[in-house]
Amino acid sequence: GAADIECEMLVLGAGPGGYSAAFRSADLGMKTVLVERYATLGGVCLNVGCIPSKALLHVANVIDEASHFADVGVAFDAPKIDIDRLRAHKQKVINKLTTGLTGMAKARKVDVVRGYGMFIDPNHVEVELTAGEGQGRTGEKKVIKFQKCIIAAGSSVVNLPFIPEDPRIVDSTGALELRSVPKRMLVIGGGIIGLEMATVYSTLGARIDVVEMGDGLMPGADRDLVKVWEKQNLHRFDKIMLKTRTVGVTCRPDGVLVKFDGEQAPDVEQKYDMVLVAVGRSPNGKKIGAEKAGVIVTDRGFIQVDKQQRTNVSHIFAIGDIVGQPMLAHKGVHEAHVAAEVAAGQKSYFDASVIPGVAYTEPEVAWVGVTETEAKAKGRKIGVGKFPWAASGRAIANGCDYGFTKLIFDEETHRIIGGGIVGPNAGDMIGEITLAIEMGCDPVDIGKTIHPHPTLGESIGMAAEVFEGSCTDLP
Ligand code: FAD
Repeated sequence: GAADIECEMLVLGAGPGGYSAAFRSADLGMKTVLVERYATLGGVCLNVGCIPSKALLHVANVIDEASHFADVGVAFDAPKIDIDRLRAHKQKVINKLTTGLTGMAKARKVDVVRGYGMFIDPNHVEVELTAGEGQGRTGEKKVIKFQKCIIAAGSSVVNLPFIPEDPRIVDSTGALELRSVPKRMLVIGGGIIGLEMATVYSTLGARIDVVEMGDGLMPGADRDLVKVWEKQNLHRFDKIMLKTRTVGVTCRPDGVLVKFDGEQAPDVEQKYDMVLVAVGRSPNGKKIGAEKAGVIVTDRGFIQVDKQQRTNVSHIFAIGDIVGQPMLAHKGVHEAHVAAEVAAGQKSYFDASVIPGVAYTEPEVAWVGVTETEAKAKGRKIGVGKFPWAASGRAIANGCDYGFTKLIFDEETHRIIGGGIVGPNAGDMIGEITLAIEMGCDPVDIGKTIHPHPTLGESIGMAAEVFEGSCTDLP
């Protein structure tokens, strides 16, 4: 039949990828429809990801910092935590951002259709409405005809099949609901999401065990960074079990019993009040009827794209978590702009050479580009400039002289190709190293840039000066 709505651009999914793509498309003059099944825009990141986790991590950070202040002569009482108000605060942060997005969509005349969208052919999506508000009844179906489409349907949490359903067993979304603070908590998965949640819950009073299949926490980051993080975080954990897996979970009224297997597995079952499963995310590629549009989806549910974010169907693009790793908001937003620009006829393409990664834990760990581990594995000749914060006035004044900053450069070209920082605000500072890599800087460029004193960011200039001497013979 005939379409209910017609548009030049249909964006499927309103996470950071989707709303950025819709906004850029509208700014470039396309009549744009944004389809989202949930009541609020913002996707995983704003509703159950980046933002609520950071609202809670900020609170944890202030509590932890205050607890160390007795050492400097300022003692606070133990914090009184009102978990209902804390939860309300987190929700307020989310609401502020999601309402902001609704306003921005209106201002750009992006037509938001609330419902679940499935392709029915290469130019039509059928949306099953999930709420009225002048657009129709819940359950009613609307067909949208589009000239171009950007798929931004994101990813979902991965569950472990042998784990029973029980309110004490949660994924990251459940953990962010902050229903209560357990006495003993198990975090399955030693990646960023698991460790961020471990930070929040341990500061609120939980004792934490972490179990990780691989041989280290925060896979992807260089081990010297993680080592410093571990030393600063030992007090949070009863056990960190590496090269170990969870093999059995039994729910009893007095607790959740967990059996482990592997190198660091305890001999007996352990009892927990809460278990967080944080073992990764899986793309939503198989849930959108992509085959009806002729879009190829891999076995694992990813949609493959070229450098212009085009799928195998040339007027359909895909961006964000659904196109692959790293599943990070800033990667999705960058891809969103490329896709919208290409759809509008511009000669844009994905040309970022690096994507920074950050664990917003205490302290933060941030890294970008080539790691030392990777360089060694590939036999690539690199130089490393490392600046320990023990020599930074600001770090000593701030009580974080355990941190460090390092720069990695290519021995042949002398260009900066990677870097890492561990310490407070590492995530904010990694941007400078990212820019240095994108602009092809050598250490001299950074070393001769005047950094404000005294700052933690100055450590990047210092790390560059460490090996400035080796670069005097630059072409
Ligand atoms: P999503 O955010 O997954 O959005 C997809 C949207 O599409 C959803 O709103 C979904 O409802 C909608 N949708 C899907 N299918 C349909 C359909 N058929 N019809 C209608 N709507 C549909 N990343 C960072 O960069 N920094 C962080 O600090 C960070 N912290 C995180 C913390 C947690 C706890 C989690 C879980 C993730 C975190 N991430 C972080 C990852 C980040 O959230 C994702 O990379 C990002 O949200 C991906 O954006 P996206 O637009 O691809 O998809």
